[in-house]
Amino acid sequence: MPTRSPRTRALAALVLGCCAAVSARAADVALARLDCGGPPAPVSVASFSDTMEHPELTLQLVYSCYLVRHGGRYLLWDTGNAMDGSPSAPKASLIEQLARIGVDPAAVEFVGVSHHHADHTGQLASFPKATLLIGQGDWEALQATRAPAGMSAGGFAAWRAPFAPWFAGGRVETLSRDRRDVFGDGSVQMISLPGHTPGHHGLLVRLAKTGNVLLTGDVTHFHENYRSDGIPTWNTSRADSLASLDRFRRLAANLGATVIIQHDPRDVAKLPVFPDFAR
Ligand SMILES: [Zn+2]
Repeated sequence: MPTRSPRTRALAALVLGCCAAVSARAADVALARLDCGGPPAPVSVASFSDTMEHPELTLQLVYSCYLVRHGGRYLLWDTGNAMDGSPSAPKASLIEQLARIGVDPAAVEFVGVSHHHADHTGQLASFPKATLLIGQGDWEALQATRAPAGMSAGGFAAWRAPFAPWFAGGRVETLSRDRRDVFGDGSVQMISLPGHTPGHHGLLVRLAKTGNVLLTGDVTHFHENYRSDGIPTWNTSRADSLASLDRFRRLAANLGATVIIQHDPRDVAKLPVFPDFAR
């Protein structure tokens, strides 16, 4: 019977340790899309182009949220429209959708928001125990004590309301670096993509079978704008927006990633229909 030297055993352990960890990591990550509402009818997207590229274009848009399962841990990415009875509200709340797969809201460890706009934060307060991951620039904007120019007092209060649990001492992590490796193994990373708002982020999810997936946040809103570097008139920085689009496109190419534009219904079918997960 062959015996192995201590050195060979150590090497074997290293190799096995490496590969077991890698395959366990890859197999452990899954991604699902949750319905988060959206406008009930096509809307004019003229204002989504500061170069007046498509003045007559109307498009149906959707609001999308995503659940990332990493082993037994969960990240919820964006929380969509509030359950406010408006035509843009989803048919089922995030809590109801998660209940279909037996996930208690308290089991959501992280809630990450691409940015601070209401169509991404509406149901945030349903997860008050989660650690909020948000770009520092967005968090700082939310600290304003008065409504920014063009926002009513009521609108200002409504904009800040979803963040109440974290203003009141909930766990919040403000992100100011290039990326945030959510679970510490590189499989799920929030990527800094400022410009739409000061602290805007996208999300990279690396799946074993599906491959790399990039969720846009609102670095772009629909295919036509993505193709032409279209920048909405209300973005906080045109220069940052262009740089972020450039970064996003290069990331997608280098990683061979599936790009999912969160507001574009043409991208919904890139993931399985909930409650199924991409793996
Ligand atoms: Zn949006």
